[in-house]
Amino acid sequence: MKFSLVADTLGYMEGTTKRLELTQHLVDLFKITSSEIISKVAYLLQGKLRPEHEGVEIGVAEKIAIRALSKSTGVPVLKIEHEYKKVGDFGQATANILEQKTQTTFLKEDITVERVYDTLFKIASLKGNRSQDMKMKYISSLLNDASPTEGRFIAKIITANLRLGVADYTILDALSIAFTGSKENRPLLEHAYNVCSDLGRVAEAVAKNGASALKSFQVSVFSPVRPMLAERVKSAQEAHEKIETEFAAEYKLDGERVQLHMQKDKIILYSRSLENITNYYPDIVEKIGKSIKANEVILEAEIVAINEDTGEFLPFQELMHRRRKYNIAKAVQDYPITVNFFDVLFVDSKSCLDISYKERRHVLENIVNDDSFVKIMPMMLVKTDDEVEDFLENAINSGCEGLMLKQLDSPYRAGARASNWLKLKREYRNELGDSLDLVVVGAFYGRGRRTGRYGALLLSTYDEEADRYPSVCKVGTGFTDESLDQFYQILSDKIRIKKDPRIDSGLEADVWFEPEVVIEVVASEITLSPIHKVALDKIRKGSGLALRFPKFTGKIRFEKTPENATSVNEVITMYNSQKKVVQDEKQF
Ligand code: ATP
Repeated sequence: MKFSLVADTLGYMEGTTKRLELTQHLVDLFKITSSEIISKVAYLLQGKLRPEHEGVEIGVAEKIAIRALSKSTGVPVLKIEHEYKKVGDFGQATANILEQKTQTTFLKEDITVERVYDTLFKIASLKGNRSQDMKMKYISSLLNDASPTEGRFIAKIITANLRLGVADYTILDALSIAFTGSKENRPLLEHAYNVCSDLGRVAEAVAKNGASALKSFQVSVFSPVRPMLAERVKSAQEAHEKIETEFAAEYKLDGERVQLHMQKDKIILYSRSLENITNYYPDIVEKIGKSIKANEVILEAEIVAINEDTGEFLPFQELMHRRRKYNIAKAVQDYPITVNFFDVLFVDSKSCLDISYKERRHVLENIVNDDSFVKIMPMMLVKTDDEVEDFLENAINSGCEGLMLKQLDSPYRAGARASNWLKLKREYRNELGDSLDLVVVGAFYGRGRRTGRYGALLLSTYDEEADRYPSVCKVGTGFTDESLDQFYQILSDKIRIKKDPRIDSGLEADVWFEPEVVIEVVASEITLSPIHKVALDKIRKGSGLALRFPKFTGKIRFEKTPENATSVNEVITMYNSQKKVVQDEKQF
């Protein structure tokens, strides 16, 4: 298949923001793609080579890509850099340079999807000293035969700058229409995607065998399941409005969520965003086997840092010391943990997703043995508000963030945020209630003590429908000198010459970043704003929503991707529920 078909589709998609048109472009492409290579097309469209959890990174530095472009076109590096600075987008700069070259070259070989994919795969597999030269060679051979449009998207993919402008669920819509004739089968595709987190695999199955292939899609070890998420509630009473009868209250620990996949001696740990994090926890790999009575399992747990002398839970930040590339053994020693299991998704060839919470808990208690390292999450069956309040008090005194309230007859709803699971945190009772996880998109230079560092950050939520980052506040409080230094370092890698087109804000930051780093913020209130763009026009025409008195809590959410940040809909729900509290108060 010609790569130009994929490149053209990406080009058309850049020209529109309308969801229906975006979907239609994908449908048109899928219809002419053979089932043999559809998985490759699905990955390439997302700028990837394999599903995220396999950790295959193309990762070519811009400098190498510029040298490769220079090699294949004969245009000097300085001239390419100049063009890049002028247009602010490496993909476009590559297209412009290739455009000049096309006018002087006659013979060209068509490049195929297979060739692009295989070359990129080779690049991703290169390691070691000579790898930079080899990468350059492979890239320049591709660019040599690429048209300007093809080159534009190859450049974007290799430098990890390709943005499709649609969420994964739109790709599922398009697959459903292309291969089953309508969107009606979309729930089947969604189910398949939620249990394997692999769009390429779902695409291949539906392209080969239609909707019937999806019915048999099963959970399997080493394909992470998209996690079930919880809705927020502010009180035991509100929880009872959502779950009427008896329910399970579990401790809500403040650590890192992990999905543990184990088959005999092989163990892989996936984070909340399904990244492979096994390397950070060699102690789990070493010790867990003897605590689990099954050959093959998928379990979910919260990993928490503890004080080994007192057994006390330590805050989330302590755990983040484990996130390092080198000297892991020392980190294991300095930052001990416990693994607190709360769910089971698969045991010895059987999926547990469709059985009730109550049954899953029973299975969990049967297969996990408690010891000083491995725990089963404390749980109590509760009926009344008083029982919830008592257990909450208990949880908080033991160092938890609050409680998770779970419906007893609910299945595990992979990938869903629904009221079968509710989260009740201590802070929910005051001011705004919950914290928000926001994406750092820009910064303002500091003055006084903060000269030479950033004085404030511009933060955005994530709009999943439009794949955009509307800003919601500028935050300048809650930072320590240490955290300011840390931000300066982390963010220096993410600086962009121009604002990412997906960022919407009425503020002009001094520096713009690639939307990647997620931090936690609390605030006193959500108000209407003419400057910030979250929920623009949704509550009042011409206004968005903004946080009042935002404050950084000290938590950088390393385990969250920008797409996992607080969504626009969540901000609207928080705004509406805050209005309800004000109205309720007025009635008294
Ligand atoms: P979310 O995961 O809901 O998007 P989040 O990552 O910001 O949001 P919270 O809002 O604090 O986290 O609540 C959900 C998280 O709580 C889970 O993802 C998990 O990491 C953690 N957690 C702690 N204890 C439990 C428990 N008993 N059951 C389920 N999750 C728990």
